[in-house]
Order: sequence, then C-alpha cells, then structure tokens
Amino acid sequence: MTAAKQTVMANGVGYRWPLRPVVVVCIDGGDPAYLRQSLADGAVPNIARFMKDGFSTIADGTMPSFTCPNNMSIITGTPASRHGISGNYYLDTATGQPVVMTGPELLRGDTIIAKFAQAGARVVSITAKDKLRKQLGKNLDISQGHISFSSELAGRCTLTENGIENVLEFVGMAQPDMYSMELSLFVLEAGIKLLEKNRPDLLYLSLTDWVQHKYAPHEPEARRFYRELDDRFGRLAALDATVALTADHGMSDKSNADGEPNVIWLQDILDSKFGKGDTKVICPITDAFVAHHGALGGFVRVWCRGQATPQQIIEVIRGIDGVDSVMDKATACREFDLPPDREGDVAVIARVDVCIGASAADHDLSGLKGHRLRTHGGVSEAKVPFIVNRPLNDAYKVKAGLSTLKSYQIFDFAINGTL
Ligand SMILES: [Zn+2]
Repeated sequence: MTAAKQTVMANGVGYRWPLRPVVVVCIDGGDPAYLRQSLADGAVPNIARFMKDGFSTIADGTMPSFTCPNNMSIITGTPASRHGISGNYYLDTATGQPVVMTGPELLRGDTIIAKFAQAGARVVSITAKDKLRKQLGKNLDISQGHISFSSELAGRCTLTENGIENVLEFVGMAQPDMYSMELSLFVLEAGIKLLEKNRPDLLYLSLTDWVQHKYAPHEPEARRFYRELDDRFGRLAALDATVALTADHGMSDKSNADGEPNVIWLQDILDSKFGKGDTKVICPITDAFVAHHGALGGFVRVWCRGQATPQQIIEVIRGIDGVDSVMDKATACREFDLPPDREGDVAVIARVDVCIGASAADHDLSGLKGHRLRTHGGVSEAKVPFIVNRPLNDAYKVKAGLSTLKSYQIFDFAINGTL
C-alpha cells in the first residue's frame, strides 16, 4: 500500500484511502436474472458468500441502459448529466452527423481512479472491449506505473500506451476471441495476476456481455459463464481484496414466439409520416460490434431536422404498439438525469419485449444466426446487482436503507462503506 493516507476527492465525493485493494467488477449485461438462476443452481458459492457476509441489493443503473453511459457512471461516481456520456452516439446538430461518444475528451469530470492515481495510489483499469479503454483511462498518467488495457488488444500492449507488456505471457492465456466468454475471463485473470504480483490499490475490471446477448439465464453456456466468473471472484477475494460487483445493464429477450425479433423500425415510420430527412433517429446502442445485437436496443433518440415538432413526433410514436414511453428532451433529462446538450428532441423507450431500430434496411440481423434477439437499453434493463463482499459500516448501512442505490455508488460503498 502506498504511503499517502489522505481523502481523495472526485466529482464532489470524498473517498478515504483504501484499507486494502479495492476491486470493482462491472459484469457487462449482468442482469439480476442470471444471478438468480446461478444462485438457485448453487453454482456461485463465492457470490453467495459475498451476499451473506457482505452487502447485496438491486440498484438502479444509468439510463439509457447501455454500456458506455454506465461504465462512465461507475468510474466517475456520477449520473450521465454530470459525465456527459449518454450513449455510444449522439447527433451533432451543426453537421447533422452522428458523433461517437467514446473519446476521453467527451467525458466530463474526473474518473475516481485517475484522482487516486494523482494522489499516489497505484491503479489498474482493464476492459474486455478496447472501445472503453481510452475513456476509462482519461487523465491517467501511464508513465507513473498505472495500467490500462483491454483484453481485446492484450497481445499488442506496450509500456508506453498501457503500462504493461507481454500480457498474454503474464496472464498465461491465449489472445481471446472477440466473441467468446474468454474475453471477459481474461480481464479477471489479468486482475488476479496483477493483484498477486503488484498489489495495486484500486482495480476496475469491466467485462463484455457477449454471453448474455446470446444466451438466456437458463441456458448451459450462461450457467457455465457464471460458474467461471464466480471462481475468479473467489480468487480475487482470497487475495484480501474488497470485491464489489455490479453491472452496466440487464438483458431482455426481445423476440416473438417464432423467434423473430420484435422490432419497431422507427425511422421508417417517421419517414412515411413526415417525409424523408425531416427527422433523424439515432440508436445510441450502435457500435462497431453489431454481430450479437444487430444494433438494436430499447432506447432511441429522435432529432427534429425539418418541419415536424417534438409534440407532433410524440403523438405519432405514442400510438405505436411496443412503445413503453415517449417524451420530450426536457422530460427525458429530468426523469433520467441526462445531459441536455447531447439529448435528442424526443426520447423513446421500448417495452421489455420490444426493441427499436432506425430503418430496416440499415440493420444487419444476419449475425443473430438463429438466436433469439436479447438486448437492452430501456428502463426494463436498468436494474443491476450491487454486491460488496464485506459488511457495511453503520453509516453506509443507514445510507443503503434510505433509498434505492445507484450503481454509480459502487466505488463509494466499496471504498468508504466497508468495515
Ligand atoms: Zn454492456
């Protein structure tokens, strides 16, 4: 443990110096249903022990229930209205072009790990997909011994860029495939190795939801994944670490009885009503990895680009079967704590069993290959596990009892809330 013992401030929250290494794991797509299934199977003894001896609840994730907004909420300890990352894409109204939101320059405020690093702690951030790495590593000075890499590009790590090299040899695993559970397990194995060898003060380990997009909680592959995760969580805890588990979002089946996805092609509907080019639908789930969800999620934004007003658009969308709620920008920002400058004119949230796309012609669903569509983005996927392996102190017991926790409080609880 490093010598410094001061309180570290990040975005207005004070964090005490960790008593022991703190490991926060984001189980990407870790819907509470997977945990319930695995607990019922008796397949996750370590998680079961954490829940019994430590603290466990179901928390509210950040809306929209996508990967980037939630990872940034967790790593900054703030809602999206503060950190600004409200999706993977937003529309630049000046150019009319969608802008990818994964750059560190778009992240507002500080990450908790960067503030600790600046105070003299040693920190580690490992993600499955490289798209998250740069934002999680914002203002992290790698030259000072900190480590930040992705298992996706583990084989290409350099000391200059990542603070570590020869990662495959170090971890003792082959380069995992982009579409495999090993991409997540690699993150955890690397965390275990670093904890054994370097004993950093803070570790953030962010997995990928390939398994949950593909398999329902009862399917053997999902159950195996949770057994594998549980084994790693147990090994992290055995290294005398505080281990805290949460998820970025849940996951819902959004197919019909025939196995076909229940999709609302919103851009097509709005084009036929208002004319092509009058509105622009942005699916903020979109990323380069569309194979397992076809870029379909439960939340989209509509920008007015012509004559139609938000109210007229809302009237049309309100009548569509499968829409759970539709609201204007001000309401969406108020209800979900979102940054207004990156919000659409209209926000649309699908029912639990439905997803929303833009134009049918623009979405490639061939990647589903006979699998039912499982995806996320709406309120129905915004409930996530919140588990800490150690008992809470009295102050945090009170705090936990006051209201439903937010998943972005996980660092606060893991660092400040444990005995
Ligand atoms: Zn995710």
